[in-house]
Amino acid sequence: MNLNELTIKQAHEGLVKKNFSSVELTQACLDQIKKTDKKIHSFILITKKEALEQAKKVDKKIAQNEQIKVLEGIPAGIKDLLCAEGIKTTACSKILENFIPPYDCTVIKKLKENGLIILGKQNCDEFAMGSSTENSAFGPTCNPWDLERVPGGTSGGPAAAVAANESIYSIGTDTGGSIRQPTAFCGIIGLKPTYGRVSRSGIIAYVSSFEQTGPITKTVEDAAIVLNAIAGNDKLDSTTSPKDVPDYTLNLNKDIKGIKIGLPREFFEQKELDPKIKESIYEALKVFEKLGAKIEEMSLPMTKYAIAAYYIIAKAEASANLARYDAIRYGEIKNQKLVLSEVEGSKIKNLSDYYLTARESGFGDEVKRSIMMGTYTLSAGYYDAYYLKATKIRTLIKQEYDKAFEKYDALICPVSPILPFKIGEKVEDPLTMYLVDAFTAPVNLAGLPSLTVPCGKIKMEKRAKEYIIGNGESLPTAFQIIGKHFDEETILRVGHNYEKAKKTQK
Ligand code: GLN
Repeated sequence: MNLNELTIKQAHEGLVKKNFSSVELTQACLDQIKKTDKKIHSFILITKKEALEQAKKVDKKIAQNEQIKVLEGIPAGIKDLLCAEGIKTTACSKILENFIPPYDCTVIKKLKENGLIILGKQNCDEFAMGSSTENSAFGPTCNPWDLERVPGGTSGGPAAAVAANESIYSIGTDTGGSIRQPTAFCGIIGLKPTYGRVSRSGIIAYVSSFEQTGPITKTVEDAAIVLNAIAGNDKLDSTTSPKDVPDYTLNLNKDIKGIKIGLPREFFEQKELDPKIKESIYEALKVFEKLGAKIEEMSLPMTKYAIAAYYIIAKAEASANLARYDAIRYGEIKNQKLVLSEVEGSKIKNLSDYYLTARESGFGDEVKRSIMMGTYTLSAGYYDAYYLKATKIRTLIKQEYDKAFEKYDALICPVSPILPFKIGEKVEDPLTMYLVDAFTAPVNLAGLPSLTVPCGKIKMEKRAKEYIIGNGESLPTAFQIIGKHFDEETILRVGHNYEKAKKTQK
């Protein structure tokens, strides 16, 4: 096995036993990036020098027999939405193409305290708006299972990189599905924590009341390890909870006999759901039954309103959050046809002209669409009809989940109604693209934690022309395990038990 193929746990054990060094591990990831990333395009910036320097420091500690933390010396990729001191952070937008943050966001700060090695910044949809990573100003990421297909989005870069063994783990964000859907499309693990579990401070904001940062990993255990490092109260984010952070790895191996799992009918009966995905999840449920879980169909009737409510609230918050980008603060736009007013023929006569020109050329289509939609639904006369109504639906959805969790320990349902689609297939049709989030967005409205777990492969009708992983004949499928507020422990335990059982089945 190549070093870059290791999990966090395995890599840590290897480092401690001095089987290999952090420099060798980091170099293995960098070599893989060199080999595969021209085709996948997971990374928009590779910080090779910094990564190797950091790895050397960890190796020195190991050589001196100092204890190292479990994430220490393990190379990771970071979605380009998280500010990292001195490293260009663009949100994959032209308007931020020259922004170098003067500080680390809390998540990076915490990861650095745990010995993070940053391989680089990873591709995503511009300002995390999209579901396929096609909205990046720097070009799309390709799915390593079939390079003609999308890796999902918006954390498509982070997910594709882990799937293709370019980074040992990645950090993504999930506002309406952006960790869970790409990890499902790439056949790996993704965890969206409870709203308030992980600090949002220093992460470029899209929908402040929905988004959470979380791990993208090869195993459930690795997700628990990363969550341990990034979770917790932060005085820089008043929405973080003061609740204690348990050790999420502690109870992973506890069995799940008698655990009550609900299957929300509205998800499984949705007509857009690919029957092959449904079948694969029913197969997975057999494993859960064998493990002693009690599985039962149940109903969440408000589900059908979730997508409409989600997009109204999301775009409203986006229009406010993106008002700050004026191409003056956060770095100028390069190569922009912004001619100073002194120049003859310039259309820019005043500051307002400058803003208009800068925002016109600095934002991509989906971002402009979001700002327009959001401004509309927040405007006088429409606020009550759209925004206010959507927030009421959000409350009803949350109450419906709260009620369900009086009876169930976890819910299992599909992540995406469809398998990874072809690049270009949906990008011109925003409404169809929004519907891809039908099973993920409700969870953000309710602020719940949810874990993507792969559950097999589905044969494609036509062989992939080019691929990096798999055999070009199939695509991964997955389910999500939704948990109670702040009960990441249970969903991780349920996921880990399934993963273990599947492994012994093989
Ligand atoms: N597709 C959704 C949106 O554009 C979700 C994106 C995300 O989770 N960041 O809002």
